[in-house]
Amino acid sequence: MRFANLQGRAVLVVRGDDGTDRAVDIERSSDGRLGSDPAVYVDLANHALLGEIAASVSANDAPALDPALLGAPVPRPPKGLGVGLNYRTHAIESGREFPTEPHFFGKTNNCVAGPFDDVIAPAGRHEIDFEAEVVIAFGRTCKGATEDDAWSYLAGVTCGQDISDRGEQFRLPIKQFTIAKSYDTFGPTGPFLVTPDEFPDRDALGLTGVVSGEVMQEANTSDLIFPIPALVAWLTRFMTFGPGDLVWTGTPGGVGEARTPQRFLVDGDVIETTVSGVGTMRNRVVVR
Ligand code: ZN
Repeated sequence: MRFANLQGRAVLVVRGDDGTDRAVDIERSSDGRLGSDPAVYVDLANHALLGEIAASVSANDAPALDPALLGAPVPRPPKGLGVGLNYRTHAIESGREFPTEPHFFGKTNNCVAGPFDDVIAPAGRHEIDFEAEVVIAFGRTCKGATEDDAWSYLAGVTCGQDISDRGEQFRLPIKQFTIAKSYDTFGPTGPFLVTPDEFPDRDALGLTGVVSGEVMQEANTSDLIFPIPALVAWLTRFMTFGPGDLVWTGTPGGVGEARTPQRFLVDGDVIETTVSGVGTMRNRVVVR
């Protein structure tokens, strides 16, 4: 199933016979058994009923989905975390050894933005960088997951950007990852939350990051140093996760900071982030 946040209302996204995406309002099509808040589809407890609705709905009768009206699929994650150095290509370009265990930082929920929202680069900060990522959303209470059962806790996958102010991130004497990656709008996600069963291989998702028409990053989650199940198992050893918690799973090589010459984001840039089977997110950079 594919889900979206359409102007604050939870919708099931289905495809008409003409190949276009259609929006099925979840509250109305469930006769009120499920609410209108996007939180309903990120909770795996509702997926059996959502599956019944998906199976019975007439896609051709549903209205066309207007992408411009989409918000973040999980607009208010209780927690958000990101992984540093989870692709070998990014570890190499950063001049770091491959980690033997994952390293995380926070992405506080004020940073979440929609799939077609502007990314606001604060005026006077000149090292704002892009990081295309696959983002996972937990769908039920999870502690002590194993790599074998990790996917069963996840409601879905979406595209994300882990926008970063490199000047702040690496400011000495101690670095400041969480703040540098959590400015307002620094965590766009979307356009859809897609359940893991929709992918031919949920552990091999293609990821592409394009900035103003130039392909900057291209990878596949099969290249992850710590694949998604390993991240879930590691994180939930001592911490409880639950519906709506998000994890940005790491960025591949090709970020602006590591390029020669360096390529930081400037006013008017358009960042396009694609995850195979999810879709493409398009965010314009506005300096303000
Ligand atoms: Zn990142």
